[in-house]
Amino acid sequence: MEITKAEFVKGVIGDDYSLGNDMPQAAFLGRSNVGKSSVINSLVNRKNLVRASKTPGKTREANFFLVNDMFYLIDFPGYGFAKCSQKDRDKLIKRILWYIQYAEDKPEVVLLIIDIKVGMTVLDMEMIKTLKENKHEVIIVANKIDKLNQKEEAQKISEIEKGVPGFHVFPYSAKTKKGREKLLSEIFEYFK
Ligand code: GDP
Repeated sequence: MEITKAEFVKGVIGDDYSLGNDMPQAAFLGRSNVGKSSVINSLVNRKNLVRASKTPGKTREANFFLVNDMFYLIDFPGYGFAKCSQKDRDKLIKRILWYIQYAEDKPEVVLLIIDIKVGMTVLDMEMIKTLKENKHEVIIVANKIDKLNQKEEAQKISEIEKGVPGFHVFPYSAKTKKGREKLLSEIFEYFK
């Protein structure tokens, strides 16, 4: 499967994650700077569909994109953004946790993007715990594998997987697009 169409639909600041239709959703979460914007842009084959969370004013909205007229890709703001106040960071985490627990339309799949060299942080673990408790389907995407050689990559992946038993960790590079075909087909499995 290929992504042939992706268009911006709306940005959400509050907790109105419903568009009043039954279109399924794929939610993308991740700490700021892990390359979440780059991963999404590489998947949809567009340089700038999703702007980096560093863009002023773009740090708070969850953005909805309609993909292939088939599902909504929701890009959540990156959490843990160093330039935000602690209060804003806490607020953002709370909003994401709210979505995971209570949003009317439960996503078919949640993609949690991490930086392979950093691994799972405390905030990522908090997300995973809540995702698990709420029985979400999760794909953990370990981005930036181009920074490691093959041996280091394998080591890191198994190290990360040990910390999150039961979850599959998916190696990826937004830079080289390694892993793209595989990740796309995994995502499309949820939208058959
Ligand atoms: P976001 O804050 O998670 O949306 O992250 P961005 O997409 O803005 O990326 C953060 C930084 O990581 C930028 O400098 C990107 O160029 C870099 N980056 C993103 N993906 C990759 C990757 O796969 N490999 C490498 N080497 N750098 C990446």
